[in-house]
Amino acid sequence: MILADCHNHTSFSSDSIAPMESMIERAVSLGLKTICITDHMDYLFPKQYDMSFVFDVDTYFDKLDECRMRYGNTIEILSGIELGLRNEPDIRPLCVDYYHELAGKYPFDQLIGSTHVLEYIDPYYPEYWHTHSETEGLRAYFESILENIRHYDMFQVYGHLDYLVRYLPGKTKDYPYSDYLDIIDEAFRLLIAEGRGIELNTAGYKYGLAYAHPRPELLVRYKELGGELLTIGSDGHAPEQLAYDFARARELLLSLGYRYYTVYRKCKPEFQPL
Ligand SMILES: [Zn+2]
Ligand SMILES: [Zn+2]
Repeated sequence: MILADCHNHTSFSSDSIAPMESMIERAVSLGLKTICITDHMDYLFPKQYDMSFVFDVDTYFDKLDECRMRYGNTIEILSGIELGLRNEPDIRPLCVDYYHELAGKYPFDQLIGSTHVLEYIDPYYPEYWHTHSETEGLRAYFESILENIRHYDMFQVYGHLDYLVRYLPGKTKDYPYSDYLDIIDEAFRLLIAEGRGIELNTAGYKYGLAYAHPRPELLVRYKELGGELLTIGSDGHAPEQLAYDFARARELLLSLGYRYYTVYRKCKPEFQPL
């Protein structure tokens, strides 16, 4: 059974209105043993969107402590953060410094690194595909992941690999992953060599895709290359999204030969049976 949901958002993220208590209460009611709250920190998010994905980390830890006092006997509450990694040459050094400072200052259990912005554009918006063909857009996305792994060393888990597929302009929402395996393999090799991992992010199911992120073929590839560190997260932004399709995720992982998933405590991986 998957008893830990390691990627979740609360009202500390600008795209969620869920109080931390409501997420935790839902996790308890689902019988989860562990929840890791990983709110968005996208430093220097492009100004044209008029949105801010940063939060006050001191207030976050105050709230987390309050919730641990209240619910700590029934569920393990881990502290986390989802860092928006940027690869633009003028932005990257500023993000690296800022995220280093955060990682050094606060006692996070898990730091997720994710790509949310490419070339100053959030590919959630169609404008990304006005300037990129599907092939170019996907290649630039996977290349940025590889570069981010090379330049950011403060995160343990790369978030939702291949989530860009959700925003492809075509209806199929599929992509020829093997065209990008040269880059993806390199990214996996680097993460594995450094003792870092990836996550299985079930939000793909929530968006109606045939697979979670990353797609099964990439989970197979990761394992073939020696990858063992795999957390599982719903990327829930509301209580009803918690542990989304975890039974399906478990079946998939077992069918691919996985026997364990990973939970990070104090930034150290621990294996739990599936
Ligand atoms: Zn994300
Ligand atoms: Zn997220």
